[in-house]
Amino acid sequence: MKTLTSAKAVLIVTSNEMLAHLGGKESPERLRAAWRGIDAAERIGVRLERLEAMPASLGELAEIHDPRYLTRLRQAFQKGAAWMDSPDCPVDSGTWTAALVAAGAGPVAVRRMLHPDGPQHAFLAVRPGCHHAKWSRADGFCYLNNTAITARAMLTSGLCTRVGIIDLDNHHGDGTQELLGRIGSCAYASVHAEGFPGTGLVDGDGPAWNWLLPAGTGDEVWLETLKQLLDLMVAWGPDGIVISFGCDVLAGDPVGSMMLTQVGLDRGARQVLERFQKLPTISVLCGGYVTSELEESVRRHVLALAGGDMSLGSNSELKGIPGVSSMVDLVSPPIPHQEPSNEYPE
Ligand SMILES: [Zn+2]
Repeated sequence: MKTLTSAKAVLIVTSNEMLAHLGGKESPERLRAAWRGIDAAERIGVRLERLEAMPASLGELAEIHDPRYLTRLRQAFQKGAAWMDSPDCPVDSGTWTAALVAAGAGPVAVRRMLHPDGPQHAFLAVRPGCHHAKWSRADGFCYLNNTAITARAMLTSGLCTRVGIIDLDNHHGDGTQELLGRIGSCAYASVHAEGFPGTGLVDGDGPAWNWLLPAGTGDEVWLETLKQLLDLMVAWGPDGIVISFGCDVLAGDPVGSMMLTQVGLDRGARQVLERFQKLPTISVLCGGYVTSELEESVRRHVLALAGGDMSLGSNSELKGIPGVSSMVDLVSPPIPHQEPSNEYPE
């Protein structure tokens, strides 16, 4: 088996606390699949630094979400509501904790990246997502906007002064676009398929560059479109990047229709990294609902974040290797379920 001999360390931020939210299609198995992909990347030589995600602070959340919404979300959890704002956003006993910890992963990564010896690239293996959560509304499996919170943390910490958000998920990040003004100095570029959430038909302020493609587009047109969006982003001149890494662009995904191959998605993510290779970059796990595909996408993506060649460690070379560990074992001992701190609004 070929291995990666010299590579930059990739920071991985995750937590088994995020398994607590049961969800539906957006299930805990997705997180376990991401961990298996990360482990597989490590086995071919990717150097990892792992950190435990911590709950986002009220200050971090309130810059991106209406405090009244945070109160509603916590009350939905406390009162045993069936769902929050949309039946796509089921609520259970683990939802509040899991959402807070997922939202806190970005700030944890930023604090580490601020160190002189900190990694340049990070991957947040988080759930629940992500880019459909708005200022005061949950939607599309998303309760808190992990992408927006990460971008805001990059700016407020001084890690960056201009953040480019590149959304590779199958769906338009309507929540992220709505939040651009709250994030601060940022630009948003998204290539997405027609369908849910029905936004992203035209460009927006922020700036927001949106490119809507028909269902079944496939690799070639998607990659060409992404290249044009990246040209716009390069011209805007960010000094830090956040990627919304959604694997629901892959063929066979139950909620995506872009019909990409694994190689196509990998090439797209590598385009982003190559165009902004000197910049601090945090990639946030977004959609992707076939766990075997999610695992492989994450393995490829972590390898790409490490600067490893695409040809390293094809999936067939990894089959049958014993000792696949889980992040539950590797990151830290399990943390007991805790009631959220009183600092959050009642
Ligand atoms: Zn999606």
